[in-house]
Formats: sequence, C-alpha cells, structure tokens
Amino acid sequence: MPAMTPAPPSPARPADTFDADVVVIGAGVVGLAVAERLARSASVVVLERHEGIARETSAHNSGVVHASIYYETGSLKHRLCWEGNPLIYEWADAHHVPVLRCGKLIAAMTEEERPGLDEVLRQATANEARDLQRLSGEQARALEPHVPVVEAIWSPSTGVVDAFALARSYEAAARAHGALTVTHHEVTHLEREGAGFRLALRDAEGATSELRAGTVVNSAGLHAHHVAEMLDYPLDGGFLQDGAGQGVPVPALRQRVNRGVYYDIVDPEVARRISRPVYPLPEHAAGGLGLHLTVDTDGGVHLGPAAEWIEPDVPLDYRNPDNPALRARFLASGQRFLPGLRDDQIAPGQVGYRPKLQAPGGGQADFLIWRHRGYVHLGGIESPGLTSSLALAREVEKHLR
Ligand SMILES: Cc1cc2nc3c(=O)[nH]c(=O)nc-3n(C[C@H](O)[C@H](O)[C@H](O)COP(=O)(O)OP(=O)(O)OC[C@H]3O[C@@H](n4cnc5c(N)ncnc54)[C@H](O)[C@@H]3O)c2cc1C
Repeated sequence: MPAMTPAPPSPARPADTFDADVVVIGAGVVGLAVAERLARSASVVVLERHEGIARETSAHNSGVVHASIYYETGSLKHRLCWEGNPLIYEWADAHHVPVLRCGKLIAAMTEEERPGLDEVLRQATANEARDLQRLSGEQARALEPHVPVVEAIWSPSTGVVDAFALARSYEAAARAHGALTVTHHEVTHLEREGAGFRLALRDAEGATSELRAGTVVNSAGLHAHHVAEMLDYPLDGGFLQDGAGQGVPVPALRQRVNRGVYYDIVDPEVARRISRPVYPLPEHAAGGLGLHLTVDTDGGVHLGPAAEWIEPDVPLDYRNPDNPALRARFLASGQRFLPGLRDDQIAPGQVGYRPKLQAPGGGQADFLIWRHRGYVHLGGIESPGLTSSLALAREVEKHLR
C-alpha cells in the first residue's frame, strides 16, 4: 500500500492511533462524494479494490440527472434526488464536468398509454418535481420531431452528466482537501477495535496490510452487504448489539442484483435525430423504468437498460455478447420511438448492475442509510444514486455529526 499522506489536523480526530479519521470503502461516485464532503474536516482514506475509481456501477449507467418524478413521496430516493438534481448542475458547472440540461420526455406512444401519464404526473406532483408540463403530441414532437409521441410529460430539469468525469471531479476535490484514494486494495476484514475499526486489506499481488480508522463508511455498492456482514450486520434484519449489550433493531440490508443491458444506436445519422432522453411509462415491478432512449454528453444515443434479475453472487460480467432474442426486443422497443430503425443500426452496448433491496417483483425499495456506533452503511444505492450523490454525501455527514 502506498505511504499515507500526512493527515490534516482535525478537531474531530480521536485518539491518534488511527491512520485516518474516516475510511470510505468504495471509490464509486457515492463513496467519492462522501470523501469529498468529509475530507473538509477530517482525514479520509478511500479504499477501492479495482485498479481505478468508478469501475463498477458508477461507470455503467445512463448518466441521467433525474428530477425525482417516480419515487415514493418522502422516501430518501425522493428527497435526495430532489436535493441532488440542482447540486449536480452547480457542481458540474464549477468543476467543468460535461453536462447537458436537455430535459426529458415521458411519452405515451399509444392512445391506451395516455392514462398511464396521469399516474406518473400524480406521483411527480406529490414529489414537487420541478417545472413539469403535460405536452400534447404536437408539442412533444416539436421537441423530438422523429418520435411519434401521442402525449407526454416534459421534465425540463432532467439532464445528462458524464458519470465518470463526475467521479473524477469528486476525487480531485477530495484530494484537494487532503483525502487519499488507495486503489487495488480490497477490504477483506473489518472489525471494531478500541474506539474505532481495524481493516484488513489485500492488494492486487495478494499482499496484505492493515489500517485503523475512527469511522467507516461502507459505500461498496453491489458489495455493501458483504461489508456490512463483516460487522455482523444481520442482512435479513434483526438486532445488532449496541455498546451496552442491548439489541438494536436494524432494517434488512440483503441486496439483490438486477442486470441492465443496453443496445446503442450506431448509425450517427439516426443518433442525430434524438436530442434528449425519451422514456416510456415506468415498469417498476420489473425493476426499471422501461427501455428508454438516452443521450450521452458525447452525442451517443442508447436504448435501455433492460431489467433482469440475476442469481445472487454470480460473478458480474460487463461484456454484452450479441443475443438475437434480446436484439429483437431492443429493436422492437427502439422502433416504437424511431419507426424505421433497422437491425443494422443497433449494436450491443454497456451492461450495468443495480444493487436492490427489493426482492424480484416487490415494490420499489428505498435507499438505506444505516448508522451504528461509528460506521455508516449505504445499501440499495441504485438509481437515482448518481443524481443523489452530493445529497447522499451531505446526509452521511449529518449522520456522523
Ligand atoms: C443500468 C443502470 C443505470 C443507471 N442509471 C442511472 C441514472 O441515469 N441516473 C442516476 O442517478 N443513477 C443511475 N444509476 C444508479 C447509479 O449508477 C448508482 O446509484 C451509483 O453509480 C452508485 O454509486 P456507488 O458509489 O454507490 O457504487 P459503485 O459505483 O458500485 O462503487 C462501489 C465501489 O466499491 C468497491 N468495492 C466493493 N467492495 C469493496 C471492498 N471490499 N473493498 C474495496 N472496494 C470495494 C467497488 O469496486 C466499487 O468501485 C444507474 C444504475 C444502473 C445499474
């Protein structure tokens, strides 16, 4: 492990036997946002098992800056997405992160789908989603002339950010506050020791080392439940012992995995016909928002992501081999938005994995932020985790204060 940079002095620093006031496990967009926030007043080390930052979910997503339309009113997803949306734009402007303030359409593509917009609008209104408008087909087609929308909801505060550039900017800002990111180091063991924690690490060559920290933030994404288990967290809910030997009830933190596959529109002439994300009505029970069209900050246009539950703990494979049945499904979905889209104009795109606290077929689960005696676990940080990253970081800071 590289030598530690000297930790900046901090009033919050406990006994000086710690290598860092705070260890953040996981250098995804959320862990790095947390590090940036906490490093303003504490010494912070971020531990990441991969060779670089943002190699998992934070680099395999749609990059949409959501507007808090869909989530249960009052949930963390609702609140933190709502708070996070303007924070992302401000941050992106201040740190030169590519971002598009392009808005998004939620589109009824048939007469039968029109009533579905009522439900979306009802939830969005309850959530005080900003500046929504209902558009006639004609108004929607003025925005996206190639998409045969029958009626739509227009969300001007939705946008698209370069997720990897965002993660890099968080890391750079965290470093500027004195934080250290240590890649190629996997946390293999975590236990309480004295007033803090002892972490065992393994590097890429299999060499082991140790680190002591006063506080631990578990931002391990798809693996957050494994890290929680290291601290005897009962994943199906139950009781944790507090310092005085009392049982403290805890919510379930067993994560399931839902795979999201994309196909890309590879004909640049067709891609140029789309200027903003266009979503169908959501498919919450399937675990996603329905196959949609998204744009990226480089001008790419993508179809997806699909939502498929996979067995727990199967190795995650980020390859997306072409699959005739899947291709046919994507093509059919794409043709709803872009009639005339041809098979040779799409190709397999990226794959992302959603850490979900809900079981297959269950209702939407909320983010889980659980603080207990010096640590914080973040569970189920699926979409809108990117949008919420700065707001999640503030929330973690509040929990630790
Ligand atoms: C298909 C898809 C589309 C999405 N689209 C959007 C969207 O449009 N808008 C939006 O707001 N959100 C979206 N999201 C959600 C968003 O991408 C995530 O919420 C966000 O990236 C989560 O970031 P994270 O830092 O929590 O997790 P991650 O990016 O997964 O980072 C966790 C890190 O922890 C590391 N780690 C794990 N275990 C250990 C260990 N033991 N030791 C050391 N390191 C460890 C991992 O290697 C990983 O780098 C989408 C997600 C998916 C899957």
